[in-house]
Amino acid sequence: QQPFLSVRDLKVHFSTEDGIVKAVDGLSFDLAKGQTLGIVGESGSGKSVTNLTILGLHDRHRTAIDGEILLDGTDLLTSSERQLEKLRGNKMAMIFQDALASLSPYHTVGTQISEVFRKHTGASKRESRARAIEMLRRVGIPQPETRVDEYPHQFSGGMRQRAMIAMALVCDPELLIADEPTTALDVTVQAQIMDLLKDLQQEFGTAIVFITHDLGVIADIADDVLVMYGGRCVERGTKREVLSTPQHPYTLGLLSSMPSLEGSVDVPLNPIPGSPPSLLNPPSGCRFHPRCAFAEKVPNGLCSTERPALDVVDGRGSACHLPLAQREEFFADFAGSR
Ligand code: SF4
Ligand code: MG
Repeated sequence: QQPFLSVRDLKVHFSTEDGIVKAVDGLSFDLAKGQTLGIVGESGSGKSVTNLTILGLHDRHRTAIDGEILLDGTDLLTSSERQLEKLRGNKMAMIFQDALASLSPYHTVGTQISEVFRKHTGASKRESRARAIEMLRRVGIPQPETRVDEYPHQFSGGMRQRAMIAMALVCDPELLIADEPTTALDVTVQAQIMDLLKDLQQEFGTAIVFITHDLGVIADIADDVLVMYGGRCVERGTKREVLSTPQHPYTLGLLSSMPSLEGSVDVPLNPIPGSPPSLLNPPSGCRFHPRCAFAEKVPNGLCSTERPALDVVDGRGSACHLPLAQREEFFADFAGSR
């Protein structure tokens, strides 16, 4: 069976005044309908750029792209702007951290939602307004018949996030890309929005790519997980595999920078030293080597000279020079060192 979304060896490089930024450097993944792929990484790991490229929202003049992105058999990278325009909002949609960036302050929430619906379905104004009210109700906005005529600034932060989700889902997209949609919200509202997304996914069978720096969110929503570092995937697997038996030193570092999660290995709370790599001048070899506590265990300075291959078997794998059995041993020591 063909995966619904298939990304093959994606490379996204763009030019800036300072040089070429290698934002994504060879990324592959598949996503089936009704499934959620969590992409986790720090800012500057290339996760947001990956999304914008899937949606065709990158700056085409400045960006060099290589690889393949197939959505239900359609190659998005060779599609025209017009074809993409048809797909966006209809077959694929996006929600992000800042609802105000996707909602216009000058139009009512209802107008904005119904316009998306009209544009893609050709429905009448009246039908579209009814649809907007229905969507607001579905995402849990109280009194949608009145709130439909309000402006975004009259909504609270959480309500705006819900309105953005209503707008994203108004045409029943089959793919939803969520880029840190709950990061700016307080914990309670965050939990409500996550529940809402899960319910909507159940109802519509939407495939979701969920991008976050927060492994807690991953633990909550993802089926499969892809860990990105410096524009590359360093580890992938099911949520269970990645959280309970991490294989990559960076994943272990991420896990130890947050309180333990349900189903995750118990490691001491310890932030990863150093800062994320520059994508203008990425470190040679393994991009994690300047921050890796295990690099010295690899002979001949290989970590700083040679890029480790990502070995994947049945969707499970990681990119590290240290033999997996040795890593597992060290990780067990590390976890037990508390
Ligand atoms: Fe650490 Fe070397 Fe493995 Fe990279 S390849 S994660 S630097 S041990
Ligand atoms: Mg981002």
